[in-house]
Amino acid sequence: MALHRLTHIVMGVPNVEETAAYYAEFGLIPGAGAGAPEARTFATVDGGEQLTIVHSPRRRLVRLGIGVDDPDDLDRISASLAALGVPAGRTEISVRAEDPGTQVTVRVEIAARVAQEPTPTPAFNAPGVTARTDERAPGILRERPVRPRKLGHVVLGSTDREASQKFFTDGIGLKVSDEVPGIAAFLRCSTDHHNVLVQQAPVAFLHHTSWQVDDVDEVGRGEPVVIVGGGNSAGQAAISLAGRGQHVTMTVRGSDLAATMSHYLVERIVSRPDIDVRYRTEVRQVSGAHRLERVEVEDTSTGKRETLPAAALFVLTGAEPHTDWLAGSVVLDERGYIVTGRDLGPGARHQAPWTERDRDPFLLETSQPGVFAAGDIRSGSTKRASAAVGDGSVAIRLVIEHLRHARTS
Ligand SMILES: Cc1cc2nc3c(=O)[nH]c(=O)nc-3n(C[C@H](O)[C@H](O)[C@H](O)COP(=O)(O)OP(=O)(O)OC[C@H]3O[C@@H](n4cnc5c(N)ncnc54)[C@H](O)[C@@H]3O)c2cc1C
Repeated sequence: MALHRLTHIVMGVPNVEETAAYYAEFGLIPGAGAGAPEARTFATVDGGEQLTIVHSPRRRLVRLGIGVDDPDDLDRISASLAALGVPAGRTEISVRAEDPGTQVTVRVEIAARVAQEPTPTPAFNAPGVTARTDERAPGILRERPVRPRKLGHVVLGSTDREASQKFFTDGIGLKVSDEVPGIAAFLRCSTDHHNVLVQQAPVAFLHHTSWQVDDVDEVGRGEPVVIVGGGNSAGQAAISLAGRGQHVTMTVRGSDLAATMSHYLVERIVSRPDIDVRYRTEVRQVSGAHRLERVEVEDTSTGKRETLPAAALFVLTGAEPHTDWLAGSVVLDERGYIVTGRDLGPGARHQAPWTERDRDPFLLETSQPGVFAAGDIRSGSTKRASAAVGDGSVAIRLVIEHLRHARTS
């Protein structure tokens, strides 16, 4: 086949910077940029520069590049497009034509073939085969970010699928790999994979792209993160983040989780291969070039330090009440939580402002008569949703009691 690969795509989006940040996080390698000043380019490991993001009023695929070997291929494609009645622009190194159905410009260009270093097949277990015992999949353990090897395929929505398919097959020269009659066709310009799927669509701008990675376990693998803390908040964060593909390391000062975390969370955490719990461990240093890349931790029992790769550090070591603005209005405890009821001290009714009321503060009442506190903000409360809801309903009852008392006193 003279066509041999997809070379690049140009994607138009209204928000270039945001989309560029997405593809950088996705693992493509940011380049210097090309063409329009706001354009952003990205490379893959094997395919070189393969994505350009440019501004466009709505998201769409602007251009698709296809590589051929020599000028004879370009001559043949020019002639085929002319036979279809499709206008095409020819230079020494390329042919360019637009498919009206997908509104994508296809640029066929003379390009070097890509010779990919084979990826070593990871050890995996299968029926009757246990190549990997007591070990996690290499794709999970790998510490470097996922780096796509090359552009895999492009799906294009066409308002005239039949004509678009003809454009790509009879005009450009792609082969049909598979077909869903009347709906879509998988087309190929390389020998290893289908590269273009043309699908019937109500509008022309629908598209998606796929990017080839080394290992299926890299699909959905997020970057490693570190969580500081061993309480329920830290546990829930670990489960939530690990569930999104991140490899999570929890650093815990104590020597087990049971003392600070609910049993159900401990069970889930210790059974997950993508969450490591490091006991007797504290964070000593964080570093990175333009963003967080590493967290240095110390095992406090041995003094041994280790540097962990980390794209984010979550510190879940306790709540802050943020009640500075209330200081002086109501009594706060030493941590800033609002003191209520009996905790205001015995004999409150004999002190101002309670002498006027001739009563002690009610259960959830603050040091200001008629002002109540409910939920987490209350000093000594059980920091649970059900306790907060209970406090709320009791507080309503006490407000009514306060108003009744105020009217009769
Ligand atoms: C990660 C995490 C996991 C948890 N998991 C559980 C669990 O599984 N089960 C459970 O029972 N409990 C759990 N909790 C605890 C539970 O969420 C709290 O106990 C509960 O939400 C407390 O309710 P609240 O109404 O007192 O406070 P909050 O839910 O914190 O509500 C206070 C509200 O007041 C707002 N606010 C703050 N200051 C001001 C201001 N000056 N002006 C106006 N508004 C303001 C805040 O934005 C917030 O919306 C968890 C907590 C966390 C953090």
